[in-house]
Amino acid sequence: MSVSRRLPRQLAAPDPTWSVETDVVVLGSGAAGLSAALAARPVREVILVTKDTLDAGSTNWAQGGLAAVLDPNDSLENHVADTLAAGAGLCDEHAVRTLVDEAPTAIRYLMELGAAFDSGDTSGEIALTREGGHSHRRIVHAGGDQSGAEVQRTLDESVRLAGVQVVERAFALDLVTGVRADGTRAVAGVRVAMLDRSGGVQSVGIVHARAVVIATGGYGQVYASTSNPPAVTGDGIALALRAGVEAADLEFIQFHPTVLWSGPDATGQQALISEAVRGEGAILLDAAGQRVMEGVHPQKDLAPRDVVATAISQRMAEAPAGVHDHVYLDARRIENFEDRFPSITASCRNIGIDPVHELIPVAPAAHYVCGGVIANLDGVTSLPGLFVVGEAARTGVHGANRLASNSLTEGVVAGTRVGRALSWQLPEQVHVADIDTDGELIDSYHRSALRSAMSRYVGVLRSPEGLAAADAILQTLAGNASSEVVPTRKSFEATNMLTIATAVVAAALMRKESRGCHRRTDFDAPSSQWQRHLTCRIVNGELEVQV
Ligand SMILES: Cc1cc2nc3c(=O)[nH]c(=O)nc-3n(C[C@H](O)[C@H](O)[C@H](O)COP(=O)(O)OP(=O)(O)OC[C@H]3O[C@@H](n4cnc5c(N)ncnc54)[C@H](O)[C@@H]3O)c2cc1C
Repeated sequence: MSVSRRLPRQLAAPDPTWSVETDVVVLGSGAAGLSAALAARPVREVILVTKDTLDAGSTNWAQGGLAAVLDPNDSLENHVADTLAAGAGLCDEHAVRTLVDEAPTAIRYLMELGAAFDSGDTSGEIALTREGGHSHRRIVHAGGDQSGAEVQRTLDESVRLAGVQVVERAFALDLVTGVRADGTRAVAGVRVAMLDRSGGVQSVGIVHARAVVIATGGYGQVYASTSNPPAVTGDGIALALRAGVEAADLEFIQFHPTVLWSGPDATGQQALISEAVRGEGAILLDAAGQRVMEGVHPQKDLAPRDVVATAISQRMAEAPAGVHDHVYLDARRIENFEDRFPSITASCRNIGIDPVHELIPVAPAAHYVCGGVIANLDGVTSLPGLFVVGEAARTGVHGANRLASNSLTEGVVAGTRVGRALSWQLPEQVHVADIDTDGELIDSYHRSALRSAMSRYVGVLRSPEGLAAADAILQTLAGNASSEVVPTRKSFEATNMLTIATAVVAAALMRKESRGCHRRTDFDAPSSQWQRHLTCRIVNGELEVQV
């Protein structure tokens, strides 16, 4: 089935004035990209391009930790079962088993590289916490709630020590493709814009490489309210779509049930109140003081995220005590809250809330995208020479909903697997004829209309009328695409966000059921007819969505 949505075929940018050659180019410097670069480097020449500073992605912000079976009372089967249950019938069980099997090794690998995970009081063994949807304690954390920062620090240092050539403020625009000796189309490199500190384009060049690894993260920033940092705009998925590569499951966007609600007009990245806070005993209350999760799910406040986010959204719609835009988290019973959750304490105090003595106002916000470019856990895609890892990939591990803390683990496991495979063997050389650089952009000021349409109509609860309204707004924005718009980081991102948002809305309109983190107001349950994936690709500038 094809939906006729015109989208830019490439990003407009000045003509390339330089080129470099390498074995492997990695796009993005979160857990996935750094792991890939590190594992490939001992054998290969590796260039890592990243559009901002090394730590600008989601990895640095992760709080809760990394899931892995390390407790003798837990088992790999339990972790597999919990992941499949969260994924609501759309996981690839083989991918899940591979991830779960390799997760404990990934944790020990990070520790070998120098990661200091929190240990229990006396034994010195790694401390494990529990998060929503997990039947056992299996979340490894660092610095209390600074787990991602510790992973980022460890991998940043390791990558630099290993001699990976790191190029910051380098924006990956579009893939360069060519043909192999046998006539098949394959990837030959990537067109990159070098940016100044304010996001202006200094120059454009081509990085020729035998392998391109996309590790550019998710697309939480297509929403006005998100836990994701500003760099997470879906660039890698959009550039893969433009190259004709298929993405899947884009409609499954996990809304974190509890970001800090800091007022009715707050937009952009919001501080997260980690699930681990509920893991340690905090409970959700509405403005009338009633428990939100009582009678909703057997795991109550630790039910899977989609269940908690939906329950909160439904309760907010009822406006108890006149409050329609947030509920509260009562963490006052947690001992030593300040020591266990130092960053959360600081974020609350920044807006004048003392979480030790007061209720924390919270609301759901876009947090994690389960879909992405179709790839296996070795990063292999349908386009020879192109690999995708981390949140940008759809490996089948998460299905219709991610189990908390499986994503950092996935980034390290998949990144390391692709890096090792590329050490072992590089894809064939590809001949490039002409590089087509004609493209279009939309102006960056369209970002705010796009984001508010997505938050208003394509959030936790989706109605057919709302989705149609979002679709109409996005089509109007697409009509503004032109080759005359000034190329900057923001206009590149706006154009990528338009591509992603259009695909998300088209898939959400087509999926006529509620499953995992996709909730339709007109279909309140999953349907066996829809226990399948929707794939998206762009052919000649037209988006195609297929069942
Ligand atoms: C607040 C928060 C808390 C979280 N907590 C947890 C948790 O406790 N446990 C867990 O497992 N997961 C957690 N997650 C999710 C997890 O952090 C991410 O899924 C994971 O870090 C993604 O890693 P990544 O390497 O794929 O992408 P990212 O870490 O997002 O990195 C993407 C990289 O790509 C770069 N980039 C993007 N576009 C371009 C471009 N065009 N050109 C060049 N570079 C580009 C970015 O600058 C960045 O360096 C959390 C996420 C957030 C936002």
